[in-house]
Amino acid sequence: MREIYETVSPLSAFAEVCEWLAFKGWSEAEGGNLSLRIEEDELPEELTASVAEEVDLPLEVPELGGKYLLITGSGTRSRDIATDAATDIGLYRITNDGTAYQWIIGNNRPTSEMPSHCAIQCEFVRSRPEYRAIIHTHPPRLISMTHVPEFKDPKILSDTLLGLQSEARIIVPEGIGHLPFCVPGSLELGVLSAEEIKYRNIILWHMHGALAVGTSLNHALDQLEVVEKASEIYWTLKSAGIPTDGMSEDDLMTSMEYFGRTDRYKNAFKDKE
Ligand SMILES: [Zn+2]
Repeated sequence: MREIYETVSPLSAFAEVCEWLAFKGWSEAEGGNLSLRIEEDELPEELTASVAEEVDLPLEVPELGGKYLLITGSGTRSRDIATDAATDIGLYRITNDGTAYQWIIGNNRPTSEMPSHCAIQCEFVRSRPEYRAIIHTHPPRLISMTHVPEFKDPKILSDTLLGLQSEARIIVPEGIGHLPFCVPGSLELGVLSAEEIKYRNIILWHMHGALAVGTSLNHALDQLEVVEKASEIYWTLKSAGIPTDGMSEDDLMTSMEYFGRTDRYKNAFKDKE
């Protein structure tokens, strides 16, 4: 069965993305976790035929019923996943009623963030089914942004950060969310993230890290790279004593119009009203 599991193609995306997370120094030690939702017809029949014991979830995720998740194991390192994803990534099936999961193969000790991943994946199925990838990691310059009191306001954070490089707001027109401190791995953090992810593709967790979502793991990583680059520019300017005012509103709007992102930009932070 292990040989069959190794042929599951998304495992190579986990390996590739985790190699970058480790290389960039974002997922130090056992930090960070990832998940990808897949459908039954994307898996070899031998795997979907397996029946395992049900483990109750601390929340109900009815929209995820019958779906499969690939998710990082507890205590696994990105640098290890890069070379042996089949050992550190587990395949799970959510029961049809969405109240429990069944381990199928691979790592059988899911990350403590599994309820958070389930809550967010459930929201994806509900409101934007093309999204199926989640990355949580610890990019240092983005975490540093959450130490700045004025950036507790996500609009100020987004307008400052995404105006520092001319393509950043084009890639992330809806801006960046920012959640107050929650205990790492807590259900509260998962539920708040699932609510915020209706509006944003990137959320900062106060003095903890970042959560990015995408249609693929690489799409989620792309957006993280863009905002971490913007934060690198922010801290470079700050260190040099140069103002961080960034692009003018006229230049920003010209770019948004050219790329057809005007509505998503203008509605950012009005979307919750
Ligand atoms: Zn973390």
